[in-house]
Amino acid sequence: MGSGQVTDWQGKNVTVAGLGVSGIPAAKVLHGLGAKITVVNDGDDARARAQAAELEALGITVRLGDGATLPEGTELIVTAPGWKPDKPLFAAAHEAGVPVWGDVELAWRLRGPDAAPWLAVTGTNGKTTTVQMLASILKAAGLRTAAVGNIGVSLLDAVLGEEQYDVLAVELSSYQLHWAPSLRAHSAAVLNLAPDHLDWHGSMEAYAADKGRIYEGNRVACVYNVADKATEDLVREADVEEGCRAVGFTLGTPAPSQLGVVEGVLVDRAFVENRQKNAQELAEVSDVNPPAPHNIANALAAAALARAYGVPPQAVRDGLRAFTPDAHRIAHVADVDGVAYIDDSKATNTHAAEASLAAYESIVWIAGGLAKGAVFEELVTKAAKRLRGAVLMGADRGLIREALARHAPEVPVVDLDRTDTGAMLAAVQEARRLAQPGDTVLLAPACASMDMFANYNQRGDLFAEAVRELGAGA
Ligand code: ADP
Repeated sequence: MGSGQVTDWQGKNVTVAGLGVSGIPAAKVLHGLGAKITVVNDGDDARARAQAAELEALGITVRLGDGATLPEGTELIVTAPGWKPDKPLFAAAHEAGVPVWGDVELAWRLRGPDAAPWLAVTGTNGKTTTVQMLASILKAAGLRTAAVGNIGVSLLDAVLGEEQYDVLAVELSSYQLHWAPSLRAHSAAVLNLAPDHLDWHGSMEAYAADKGRIYEGNRVACVYNVADKATEDLVREADVEEGCRAVGFTLGTPAPSQLGVVEGVLVDRAFVENRQKNAQELAEVSDVNPPAPHNIANALAAAALARAYGVPPQAVRDGLRAFTPDAHRIAHVADVDGVAYIDDSKATNTHAAEASLAAYESIVWIAGGLAKGAVFEELVTKAAKRLRGAVLMGADRGLIREALARHAPEVPVVDLDRTDTGAMLAAVQEARRLAQPGDTVLLAPACASMDMFANYNQRGDLFAEAVRELGAGA
């Protein structure tokens, strides 16, 4: 199993680590190609048993309740991206010289010789949005494309399915990149880099290094965020193809080889003739939905990748206009009594919440949940002057409360002392009491949702429901 395409899977002993969204299709596909599959899984619950039964019916071996032992004779492990690198299974694989591929590596290796090139996106925040914007722009240019990765079409389906693509817009997480050593994108972007998932990667350096893999072997452009030096450093460290360019995006006036904003217009000074002198208008800021600063940055990154692929300026504008964000990402729910209610439940970490809070002038902030080891000092310090008040809930709300007390003692805080789903209605009612006409009530929790809700979707849905109740006179 070198670094090239594997064409003969017949009789190969492959261990698939983890039953789940990537493991089950990987097992089926490789089984279909003639490999001998053993699936190993830590859990042994009813759901795992049902999934195992389905695979066993096909002739696939499944070991439940033991994800640690390397099955005898294993030649390759295909792991679920979320499996932590320090698991004993991987230590055993390392010792035995067995390569480990993630779902992205597998898709990359299985794609055909004329496969569509990948325009890849990673970053701590904004990946999904940027990839969807990119796909929208590529479509507007008449290209056959899809947003793939953590969203929409799965990577395996995209490379093996019936559908033919010209180019793919690929979202990649740091986990996926960790397990994708031979991936080589046409062009790639790292949107931003802030501490997240450090328990998984072990350190900020390891996290950054995994994100940086996305630039390895890029052919046309490595797109970085001018405002986030760490992303530029990753470009510098990457080993790219001859002629591949570093292209920055900025919310300010772009230097040569950058995309940026000039007087409300998104402009390109990278993919133009004579970039010392010329700039190409791409779109208006108002074509970006929503036109919050971080989202304009996402649009610029998407535009840079599309332009690297050769898309004309007009398609950038049309694609951005045609784009609507997914639910719970700065979604405007309603105006009630002159106060706007915004659902950014997807702001599950402090970096995302910081971007959201920077987008509004006067805010009643609803926050809290599971902090995942985050500290809130910087977030609160930066947001302090914009806060009309804060309503806190969830397991780790105390951390935010203390940060507010230290850095924004004048901001009124309501501590709900609740971790049940019903707390959302109470939170919205409290926020309404604090808000004044012209304010924004912003759900941007800076925390994960799982202490109170099934996921961030449910958290956002309950927020929207509560706002609608307010509107109806609750
Ligand atoms: P991801 O796929 O990386 O989780 P999303 O596009 O789903 O990113 O956005 C997640 C959240 O991150 C959004 O709700 C918003 O709060 C925040 N966000 C989006 N883009 C950015 C950005 N460029 N910088 C900082 N935060 C962002």
